Amino acid sequence: MTIPKTHPRYQSLCIRERLTDGVRTGITSQVGLIAHGCGEAFDYLLGERTTESAMRAEETAVAMLLAASRPVLSVNGNVAALVPDEIIELGRVLNAAIEINLFYRTEERVRAIADHLRLHGASGVLGTHPDASLHPLPPDHPRSRVCKGGIHDADVVLVPLEDGDRCQALADMGKSVIAIDLNPLSRTAKAATVTIVDNVVRAIPNMIGLTLRMKDLDADRLDDIVSRYDNEETLRTAIEEIVTRGVAEV
Ligand code: ATP
Ligand code: MG
Repeated sequence: MTIPKTHPRYQSLCIRERLTDGVRTGITSQVGLIAHGCGEAFDYLLGERTTESAMRAEETAVAMLLAASRPVLSVNGNVAALVPDEIIELGRVLNAAIEINLFYRTEERVRAIADHLRLHGASGVLGTHPDASLHPLPPDHPRSRVCKGGIHDADVVLVPLEDGDRCQALADMGKSVIAIDLNPLSRTAKAATVTIVDNVVRAIPNMIGLTLRMKDLDADRLDDIVSRYDNEETLRTAIEEIVTRGVAEV
């Protein structure tokens, strides 16, 4: 379908198109479309922009990832469809591993995402042969499968659009968890160490820019940025943004 550039919701319609293409090519699950609808609603309420508090969360996330010994970026079907080039570029500038990690895991979908990422220039993508599990979850369940040398052994994990249960499991394993989730009320948002309440299509490019700006900061400075961060405050601010913007609009 060609979307007229003059349509007032042009950007949003293009994003939907990328996701439905993702479903067609086997990258995105149908349930991923529902998750996206939820995200779209919150994005509307936030004014479809990166708020100041989200930018602070993004800066903190980058500081954490730069200071990490084993940083890993988790990729699911929505991320692969929406920001394939950007997530690969973020992995490159951060020197972080990329692992495909799906809630609705099927081997076909993992393979399709791995091929898609390779087509976009990625190499060494993890997740096709998981050999470990997230401890607090049932070890035989597909949603608990992860890779040694990847998410299993990471000290800092970036999980865009993660399920609340798995986010909690990662935190319970002692990892610093960075979630990207437009819903500040979700279990994911509450369980994460740092929650970026922003759309992945803005958050990942912002984080590439921040990494390039911050990559020469020394360990003390990175520590300082991380220690001044308060996630509860970030979530409260996001909810306030939604409420005050909503009241101002009507
Ligand atoms: P909980 O976290 O409470 O367990 P859940 O993870 O089961 O809920 P889902 O709807 O599966 O709920 O999660 C998808 C989440 O991803 C939603 O909170 C939605 O707002 C968010 N989301 C969807 N699309 C995007 C996007 N493009 N950028 C950022 N967040 C998004
Ligand atoms: Mg969630």
